[in-house]
Amino acid sequence: MKAKAPAKSLTLIQLFDRFDTDEKARKHLELILWPNGPVCPHCKCNDQAKIAERAANKDKKIRPGLRFCSNCQKQFTVTIGTIFEDSHIPLRKWLIAWYLLCSSKKGIASLALQRLLELGSYRTALFMTHRIRYALQQTTFAEKLSGTVEVDEASIKSRAGDGREFGVKVAVVAMVQRGGAVRSQVMKTVSAINLKEAVMANVEKQSQVHTDKLQGYVGLRSDYDHRSVKHGAGEFSRHEGPVHVTTANVESYFSLLKRGVVGTFHHISEKHLPLYLAEFDFRHSLRNETDGQRTDIALTKAAGKRLIYKTA
Ligand SMILES: [Zn+2]
Repeated sequence: MKAKAPAKSLTLIQLFDRFDTDEKARKHLELILWPNGPVCPHCKCNDQAKIAERAANKDKKIRPGLRFCSNCQKQFTVTIGTIFEDSHIPLRKWLIAWYLLCSSKKGIASLALQRLLELGSYRTALFMTHRIRYALQQTTFAEKLSGTVEVDEASIKSRAGDGREFGVKVAVVAMVQRGGAVRSQVMKTVSAINLKEAVMANVEKQSQVHTDKLQGYVGLRSDYDHRSVKHGAGEFSRHEGPVHVTTANVESYFSLLKRGVVGTFHHISEKHLPLYLAEFDFRHSLRNETDGQRTDIALTKAAGKRLIYKTA
């Protein structure tokens, strides 16, 4: 009999069953963050003979999952040094929130999360979603995009500054590697110099770059195999020998982003837009994974994020 392909998504019921206790959620997080067994965050020891799990005991204030490292004589749990450290929100609610955020194509509104997870306040839900986005945000990348990369820019309706004023348009440039990752960023002023700088920072030289006919992209010719489609002339894709010149993939990225910004988030503040871009980039880059796999990859980014994020 043919093996059944893994389901692309879990149902809500399966999700709540999977994380029906904080214990199960913690064990899942341990598997993700410690694939080779616990690692002491204090001395980096991963010699399993030196790390022991302590029996949970409420009277002695020993939390479940507490480990003792005989190398440095200190104790720790899996959440130390992660965005979950010191959080009063139950771990199972955190993991369900990660799952919902990573599997909803257009994102999930904090208000919906508050209702679904019975969180005490909207502020708590917003705090969670922002922390997850922050964890997903990558400021440096090990590798540049390569192969065929589609580049386009769009203006996203936002709220000015910290969000009080409506209707500001913020330019965003996105680069989509065909069959691969997406990187997008806010661009204060769209100019030939800024566009080239963004492409140079993110795309391997000599790659094939497909754009529309915007004059600003002409400067790419010196470093890239640049091809363009004439949107103004009603052309959406063209075949140049074996090359399919199109920006359809980057356009579908923007269409999802715009639908998320308008439909799910009802306009994002200019200040927070980069966090939402990180969320959309992450999901789109891993669009071919199952929801469960995408969430597990996202969870690996929860580590090492604690010390530098202090907002409520
Ligand atoms: Zn240690």
